[in-house]
Amino acid sequence: MEERGTISIHTENIFPIIKKFLYSDHEIFLRELISNAVDATEKLKRLSAIGEAKDEMGDLKIHVAVNKDAKTITVKDKGIGMTADEIKKYINQIAFSGATEFIEKYKDKIDEKQIIGHFGLGFYSAFMVSSKVEIITKSFKEGSEAARWICDGSTEFEITKAEKQDRGTDIILHLADDSLEFLENYRIENILTKYCKFLPVEIEFEGKIINNTNPLWTRQPSELKDEDYLNFYRELYPFAGDPLFWIHLNVDYPFNLTGILYFPKLKGELEVNKNKIQLYSRQVFITDEVKDVVPEFLMLLHGVIDSPDIPLNVSRSFLQTDSNVKKINTHITKKVADKLAELFKNDRKAFEEKWNDIHVFVKFGMMSDDKFYEKAKDFCLLSNIKDQHYTIEEYKEFIKANQTDKNETIIALYTSDPARQHSYIESAEKRNYDVLLMNNMIDNHFINMIEGKVEKFALKRVDADIVDKLIDKGHQVESVLSENEKTKVKEIFEKATTGKGVTLNLESLPADELPVSITQPEFMRRMKEMSSLGGGGFMGKMPEILNVAINTNHKIIQKLLKAPNEEEQVKIAKQAYDLGLLSQGMLSGKELTDFIQRSAELASN
Ligand code: ADP
Repeated sequence: MEERGTISIHTENIFPIIKKFLYSDHEIFLRELISNAVDATEKLKRLSAIGEAKDEMGDLKIHVAVNKDAKTITVKDKGIGMTADEIKKYINQIAFSGATEFIEKYKDKIDEKQIIGHFGLGFYSAFMVSSKVEIITKSFKEGSEAARWICDGSTEFEITKAEKQDRGTDIILHLADDSLEFLENYRIENILTKYCKFLPVEIEFEGKIINNTNPLWTRQPSELKDEDYLNFYRELYPFAGDPLFWIHLNVDYPFNLTGILYFPKLKGELEVNKNKIQLYSRQVFITDEVKDVVPEFLMLLHGVIDSPDIPLNVSRSFLQTDSNVKKINTHITKKVADKLAELFKNDRKAFEEKWNDIHVFVKFGMMSDDKFYEKAKDFCLLSNIKDQHYTIEEYKEFIKANQTDKNETIIALYTSDPARQHSYIESAEKRNYDVLLMNNMIDNHFINMIEGKVEKFALKRVDADIVDKLIDKGHQVESVLSENEKTKVKEIFEKATTGKGVTLNLESLPADELPVSITQPEFMRRMKEMSSLGGGGFMGKMPEILNVAINTNHKIIQKLLKAPNEEEQVKIAKQAYDLGLLSQGMLSGKELTDFIQRSAELASN
């Protein structure tokens, strides 16, 4: 039997077009051919299980071989094989019509980026790297004859009888001159480990089995121990430290999805993780660019997601609106929130210990997803400088009695830097106020969000104003100065701070508060910080606004009024002002040197 024919497609030569489209992704030919080999093998196993395939199955390993002299790559399976008729049907008609369909769909999209980088083009992708492709195959069906098909990527093909003893299919690629890189063993090995590491049928290359056929996510959570999850994590990310905990996903309705998501230790900042979530479809690696499949905040997680329901051969914009993808997003988000809630409920102490490693993730999630916020608000913790942890509601309850201002707003105080803001923290603690620690980049945004969501609750940085203004309870301390004395004090301070562009306020504070407090209004500072993170609406540089509160009840002010002449008075005012700067860590350069000299002089008088 010998047959020549023309593959019935309309486009004369689709090969060059596909080749151009897929330029950056040639290597997927191997993934596609091996996927076909795996499918053929799995089909055989099923047929054998129901008694339809009578022969012994024997060793079902798939072999990949490179022949440098012949410039060929061979993928050999022991699956169901094909009869000559089946080749005509499945290869000539189906495989090639798939390719034609692809061209029809994408021929107008000149921009390669519009075409998703990873899709199944199936058997035809062999022509991306081959000048000629040969199939030698023998069906599992009793009495089948082996057949050979050969085609050079044009629409011409040839089918003949072949000599093949054993069941299964050999795909032989005669590499094109521009694809000889695939003759290198390391190249093939890399591609195999990238795409085929978890395929369900053993794949042998150069005498080595390259895959784990039974990856953890395909197994029952009930039969797995913590050590199994940890080992699998190490297998996925050999250079990462151990994860904090994990979630085993297992859904069969309304879509199919399995996977394991790991919570890594985040190093504080919103780093773009190099250990990315890997997306599989029936154990075939598809991509680690899961941007459209997984909500952004979950991309901080590690692990694998396997779903045959994620459409891979469509454009990205379509992927975002795909209803399966949306459902998957919602489901994963819910699972993650549930897992965290469960940890919080079952072992609060352990949860608190992990909080430092997961808070960025939780806060990011709360800010980017309302549904996640609704669940997370009950386990999201606020930590104070004594390293005590409260949920938002608990914290409100905790500070309510002492930290409610005259407008019935509960005011939480926080520090972004306990060492630098030490004197302000002391002032707060003198009044038995609690101080939260908010020192992560994400906290600026997080604070804004909480204030927007939780009514009658505000957060103020300890150094945003004098503490009695931060939590303004409406009672005033009497000033010991007369109106005349106040005017005099203000004049002297104006002289002492000429040219500094600060706003002076006289305040009657308790005598043990600093003589001069320098603060930066919460609102202005936040705007500035947000705009420096690229979040706020301000362009260019924001002006520095400093408020100077002069404590009229401090003894130094009495001393200033009693000083013999104006020169001495200004000197004392400068000294008090510099102390204010010093407590904000803002004294440097010539001002610092002047301050030190003045201090030495005053001390020796
Ligand atoms: P798909 O795998 O998406 O169906 P392909 O173009 O990859 O499309 O393959 C077309 C058809 O050719 C397959 O559905 C299958 O019937 C047949 N085929 C391809 N490779 C093999 C193989 N190694 N063994 C048996 N049949 C195969």
